[in-house]
Amino acid sequence: MKLILLGAPGAGKGTVAKLLTEIDGSVQISTGDILRGAVQVGSELGKQADAFMKVGDLVPDELIMGIMETRLQEPDCDKGFLLDGFPRTIPQAEALKVLLDKIGIDLDMAVNIDVPRDVILDRLTTRRTCSNGDCQAIYNVKSNPPRQEGVCDKCGSPVIQREDETAEAISHRLETYNEKTAPLIGFYEKEALLITVTATSSDAVITAIKEKLEQ
Ligand code: ADP
Ligand code: ZN
Repeated sequence: MKLILLGAPGAGKGTVAKLLTEIDGSVQISTGDILRGAVQVGSELGKQADAFMKVGDLVPDELIMGIMETRLQEPDCDKGFLLDGFPRTIPQAEALKVLLDKIGIDLDMAVNIDVPRDVILDRLTTRRTCSNGDCQAIYNVKSNPPRQEGVCDKCGSPVIQREDETAEAISHRLETYNEKTAPLIGFYEKEALLITVTATSSDAVITAIKEKLEQ
């Protein structure tokens, strides 16, 4: 499957993407994970992205398109891909359309995961992430804590609160979402690719996506 996952920070895009990869081997492509990995190893990309990410601002479109142009042409994308956190602005969506035309790929759909704001806020403040750039497993101190406090179940690295998950950065990320990313819902509606799923459980989102793909 070739899907775009849309939704506010904390809507569950990453969790849904991971579950979908298990269905047919499609790969999850998370621009947030790629950028955090780059910051951690201190690459040129990481140095350019770091200051934007810390405060909850978007990284410039040109940097993101540079990453995605390469990533989408890697061989593992032949099996399908789940775009998680990209596109995030109208210019990125337009550039993606041109890129996919050029490399001859058709999207199946763009899934808008719609979650109430109070649920989002609660999730973001209780979310914890594995600090290992190659793992980045997601936990929640209330609903899904690691077996041993502060230690990743999967790789044993420290589980931390992301730097952009302070109250201030979270509210800035939500504003940025409303202003820059929410307009993509209308964009993909016009492209006749949009489905909206209103659900707070990732299993319910998966079921809705499967049903739609089978139609
Ligand atoms: P979330 O969806 O929880 O906000 P992500 O992991 O997707 O978090 O992204 C974290 C940060 O990485 C964003 O706040 C932004 O600074 C940067 N980022 C990720 N994807 C993009 C993108 N497509 N365009 C611009 N910035 C991005
Ligand atoms: Zn880990």
